[in-house]
Amino acid sequence: MNGDTQLVGILGYPVSQSKSPVMHNAVFTELGLNWAYVPLPVRPDLVERALKGLVALGFRGANVTAPYKETVLPFMDELSPSARAINAVNTISITPEGKLIGDNTDAAGFTQDLQENNVDVKNSTVLILGAGGSSRAILYGLLQAGCPEVILLNRTLNKATKTAQEIGLAFPEANIQTAVLDEANIASFSKANLIINCTSLGMKENSEQMPWYDNISFHETQVVYELIYNPNPTRFLKKAQQDGARVLNGLGMLVHQGIVSFTIWTGVQPPIETMRVAISE
Ligand code: NAP
Repeated sequence: MNGDTQLVGILGYPVSQSKSPVMHNAVFTELGLNWAYVPLPVRPDLVERALKGLVALGFRGANVTAPYKETVLPFMDELSPSARAINAVNTISITPEGKLIGDNTDAAGFTQDLQENNVDVKNSTVLILGAGGSSRAILYGLLQAGCPEVILLNRTLNKATKTAQEIGLAFPEANIQTAVLDEANIASFSKANLIINCTSLGMKENSEQMPWYDNISFHETQVVYELIYNPNPTRFLKKAQQDGARVLNGLGMLVHQGIVSFTIWTGVQPPIETMRVAISE
């Protein structure tokens, strides 16, 4: 780093678990770009001041992670169509005039990962488990990619209904059903072509849990996608693998959303393999 180093970072609380700094810094080094990506842990009462601080300090942008993807919305000067539709920001770019532009690269990251893995969504019925922030991005990405039919199951039904109504508004041709995440509904929709876990069940602190039931089988023709990448595999993904389904985890989405963010900030397309190697070390 020297006096000309351009700065970006990740704003969240906590951020110590994030793989984004190592992923982006590996590419800056590889491409010889004089940029650096720094962790930005921000206390909940200081988010607005932190955003003003980024502008004041000449940052070029930032990623935003939990729990602030929605918190930062009112402080953006402009929102991209995807950030507005998903109602969450995971990437901020800062213009030379100091304007904060909020974007969301999670949806594109997810669908680009599906594309890279040759997963067809145009002729698929998709079952999404969960209706939190990531589920909104996934639903938006799927509908934008031409998915005709989605079932959204969530513990809190009204959140699923609200998500389906809000995101579905721009895609009137799509068939979106919602129901409670319980054993009976999982069983009746368990034949979907693509099944995605967007709940937090299975994360480190509740790694023994899964949003599925041992007596409901996955099938060899299905693709099962787990957004959680730590632990890897989760109990959910292990069961899908044992039942013979094709499994994908959230590392691919992490890399692809990172590629889109990196390109927004620098105008340069990063080498995917460098990112992959960096996060797997
Ligand atoms: P979130 O907004 O907090 O949503 C959490 C979801 O999990 C909600 O649907 C919630 O249901 C459900 N849930 C939580 N506890 C539950 C329980 N005991 N039983 C049933 N459902 C439960 O979280 P998020 O931002 O969507 O993130 C979800 C997961 O995706 C996290 O593990 C996150 O790390 C991962 N993620 C990965 C990537 C990636 O790049 N790979 C990107 C984003 C997120 P209720 O609505 O009923 O509370």
